[in-house]
Amino acid sequence: MLIVFIGPPGAGKGTQSKRLLEYLHISPLSTGELLREAKASGSSLGKLAAQYMDQGRLVPDPLVLAIVGEKLREPQYATGVMFDGFPRTLQQARALDESLAQRGTPLDMALELRADDNELVTRMLRRSVAERRADDNPQTIAHRMEVYRQQTAPLLDYYRFKGILTPIDAMGTPDEVFERIKTAVGKRRSA
Ligand code: AMP
Repeated sequence: MLIVFIGPPGAGKGTQSKRLLEYLHISPLSTGELLREAKASGSSLGKLAAQYMDQGRLVPDPLVLAIVGEKLREPQYATGVMFDGFPRTLQQARALDESLAQRGTPLDMALELRADDNELVTRMLRRSVAERRADDNPQTIAHRMEVYRQQTAPLLDYYRFKGILTPIDAMGTPDEVFERIKTAVGKRRSA
């Protein structure tokens, strides 16, 4: 299966996608993690990406698409992919569709995680203490939420129009949310 996860920062994309890939035995492709690795390596690409990430801005599409394009050629992604944090713009969504069409493996589902804004902010502030992520501070969080509304939320209509959008209530415990995801995936598989 090929699945994309969409949701505002703090909705649990990382947590839930990790659980789902273990359940479905498919490989994850998280642009946030790839970009954090690039940043930590100190490469020129990483340094460039860090200028955007540290301010909560999106890394430019060409840079993200180059990273994803190269990664997708790896053999573990031939039969299934769990995209996490990608695509985040319409341009990325269209580019992804094109490259998947060339491979003959279109997306099966776009899972949308939905949660209240207050809950999202609380979760991210908790995570900033636990994981010490540079971009989990109050100003950056507010900016990332705004970026999500402006640049990523339009993807919901894009996938709804394609008939593959599945909204998931992301309030509650990680176990509760994962049960809802498993039910939705089961329905899609048997459709
Ligand atoms: P994430 O771990 O998915 O929340 O991503 C952390 C940061 O990495 C984001 O705030 C962006 O700066 C950058 N990033 C991750 N994925 C993308 C993407 N698909 N397009 C642009 N920037 C991204």
